[in-house]
Amino acid sequence: MTLSERPEPLLRIVSLTKRFGGFTAVDNVTVDIRPGERFGLIGPNGSGKTTLINCISGAFRTEPGTVLFRDEDITPLQPHVRTRRGIARSFQIPRPFRSMTVAENLMVALDFAAHEHVSVVQRRDTMMSILTQMGLASKANASATQLSQVELRKMELARAMATQPKLLISDEAMAGLSNSEVDEVLDLLMSLAGQDITIIMIEHIMQAVMRFSDRVMCLDAGRIIAIGPPSEVMANPRVQEAYLGT
Ligand code: ADP
Ligand code: MG
Repeated sequence: MTLSERPEPLLRIVSLTKRFGGFTAVDNVTVDIRPGERFGLIGPNGSGKTTLINCISGAFRTEPGTVLFRDEDITPLQPHVRTRRGIARSFQIPRPFRSMTVAENLMVALDFAAHEHVSVVQRRDTMMSILTQMGLASKANASATQLSQVELRKMELARAMATQPKLLISDEAMAGLSNSEVDEVLDLLMSLAGQDITIIMIEHIMQAVMRFSDRVMCLDAGRIIAIGPPSEVMANPRVQEAYLGT
């Protein structure tokens, strides 16, 4: 193997298009995400951010388009298989099992992702270490219905982490939070990124995007209108126009 300056991309999205009937939600998107990258995905409401994520996670079939993950064409794979390959996402609207405790919610995700040789004891250890990292250890036995908004967001990220992802996609984990709560979630994402997890963060809060991202991509009407360093993308007139238009 030869050492190259640039590592192979972790995720390659090639000519990806997603249509709903006659409407094109994602329009011919091609982008590489590098291993370890903190990648910000922005764009006005309805610009196709969540749809793109759904195509990466496998919830939607692409037509046409290819998604490569760690050099493997995962386009034909079902969502749960992609999860086991190392792709996790949190949902824009948290979807906890409300009748369960926080710990139980995490165990469901762990049981789903864990290999058979991992014992229940090991799974419990992993669960507690994820909850500790997320600042939720004291809530382990609380019902999901007792969580505050920011705690729910953290549990959503914890559930994604329970699948031990290589790539974590966070879909607006900060929407509706106070400034200090935004900082809390941002610090969490930063600490995960420091642990060799590649992160795609969809966010409307621009200060958070600026602080977080190595690179930012802006979608408008399903197309990439800018991609590059955060400050460059924010200063791009097409980006500013896209946001003013909404
Ligand atoms: P964003 O996350 O950037 O706000 P979305 O990806 O959710 O945008 O949506 C992009 C466009 O695709 C919107 O016009 C939305 O109405 C449409 N869309 C998203 N999901 C569906 C679906 N399941 N069926 C039909 N249209 C959809
Ligand atoms: Mg969305």
